[in-house]
Amino acid sequence: MAYYLLQRDQAGAARLAAGLSQALARIRHCDRCNSFAEEPVCALCASPRRDASLLCVVESPGDLLMMEQAQCYQGLYFVLMGALSPLDGIGPRDIHLDRLVRRASDGTVREVILATNFTVEGEATAHYIGEALRPRGLKVTRIARGLPVGGELEHVDGGTLAQAVVERREV
Ligand SMILES: [Zn+2]
Repeated sequence: MAYYLLQRDQAGAARLAAGLSQALARIRHCDRCNSFAEEPVCALCASPRRDASLLCVVESPGDLLMMEQAQCYQGLYFVLMGALSPLDGIGPRDIHLDRLVRRASDGTVREVILATNFTVEGEATAHYIGEALRPRGLKVTRIARGLPVGGELEHVDGGTLAQAVVERREV
């Protein structure tokens, strides 16, 4: 992209550079969900149409966007901006765990849905958050994992299939 802009579109490169530096100057973290925002509280958190009793925890603003595009969820979010990774020196403080606990204990939130990645770090993070929130009387759930929509058993990896069997549900 850098080569293309430098060779073919220097005006575009200047616009992109200006846009990025503007974003760097303006973008901050939402006081409520910790995602990127231009205002103290982002539009999503300020919306009266969202179900404030549901709080979905994701690792990144990109994950939040994916959830929104899936149009399957009407609650609010908390963005960790990472996942626990002791080997990389990323601890509870780096994923804003204290803020998440305060946010989830506002008296309105009834269920916290853990939608961290199904990686070693994401699983450890979900477990850790669950342990921190459960004693506060909150219902803590984890998004399900299993076969992809339209997926066929013979083309799915063994780990995913094994988890789908373990987490089977009654129909
Ligand atoms: Zn927000």
